[in-house]
Amino acid sequence: MKILVVDDEPFVRKLLIHQLGRLGFEHVQASASAQEALSMLEAPGESPDLIFCDLQMPGMDGVEFVRHLVNVSYAGGLVLVSGEDERIVQTAAKLARAHNLKVLGALNKPVPIDRLKQILEDGITHSPAQPRAERKTYSAERLLRAIVDGELINHYQPKVELASGAVAGFETLVRWQHPQDGLILPDQFIPMVEESGLINELTRSVLRTALRHARAWRDDGFPLQVAVNVSMDNLVALDFPDFVERAVEEAGIAASGLLLEVTESRLMKDPLTPLEVLARLRLKRIGLSIDDFGTGHSSLAQLRDIPFSELKVDRGFVHGAWRDASLRAILEASLGMARQLGMKTVAEGVEDREDWNFLRSSGCELAQGWFISKALPPEQIPDWIAGWNLRRSTFVEPGA
Ligand SMILES: [Mg+2]
Repeated sequence: MKILVVDDEPFVRKLLIHQLGRLGFEHVQASASAQEALSMLEAPGESPDLIFCDLQMPGMDGVEFVRHLVNVSYAGGLVLVSGEDERIVQTAAKLARAHNLKVLGALNKPVPIDRLKQILEDGITHSPAQPRAERKTYSAERLLRAIVDGELINHYQPKVELASGAVAGFETLVRWQHPQDGLILPDQFIPMVEESGLINELTRSVLRTALRHARAWRDDGFPLQVAVNVSMDNLVALDFPDFVERAVEEAGIAASGLLLEVTESRLMKDPLTPLEVLARLRLKRIGLSIDDFGTGHSSLAQLRDIPFSELKVDRGFVHGAWRDASLRAILEASLGMARQLGMKTVAEGVEDREDWNFLRSSGCELAQGWFISKALPPEQIPDWIAGWNLRRSTFVEPGA
């Protein structure tokens, strides 16, 4: 493996080369500036497999260097190293990942040798960065046909209680079972649905189906709450509360068995109609959740104005919060506010055991994420519940 170290401080270069040598990496080149490193990269056949790059350098800094790496289509690994504030290094790493560079780590100087060893081991076992797949777009006509023909199907992601592990409910996540293109995830078609004014048709069809499934689970002995995502565009229709009430009654479900997860992806021209619609839904005892809290327009002002019954902290503040002081501060403040406002708290993006354990200690009530389960087709739900109930005792202390 060919390695390139880019750092303006001679001592840091020497130390890193020495450490890499001790770990058995002999093909290490060094460069005192980003400009020099770029000219080395442009030489044919000379591209390294891994670059260690300092952020703070005179002339071209590490952030600018990252942009040039994208321009020369650098395909190897990248480790960012800095003597700066931890948060600056994390921001630079985020930026590099957003450019689809393969970032193996972000380190503070001096680099501990065990961290170095771990990063190199991970880098060798992981596959190179994949170019982003072409995204297909669909016309409004095609989408309308998909809704009418029932090609849009509901999958359900479990929410469980952190204290007991008990299953609390499911969030409905819509998928498009496309006859040619296979299963398509919502980020690939929802924006077009919203743009073309079809979101009402979509939400109403998803909601009716979700209530039907919730009724089937209840009849199977699982009276679980089902959540459906609604966008602010749904909430400008004044008949929406009556539609929801009717749909709940027709399904034979208690109003509290339905939760609407509200997101606002753009600023509303008319902020009053959604307030009226949400207030009426709450009067009808439908649960309301402020979704992706902390991002976009899911803001403190909404928390002040709208009678939400649940707060869902965005995944961006959840996964990894146990080791990141900034995330932890934001997560804990959000949970504290929700508790003071008498709202139920949910963390989304619980991806591993560390996330799970940390959230249990934070007092958050519900968790959702891949650590528990991905979204499942409805026919798999009964088996999943049975399996989870067998496993769940291993995730909670005895007697909890
Ligand atoms: Mg949601």
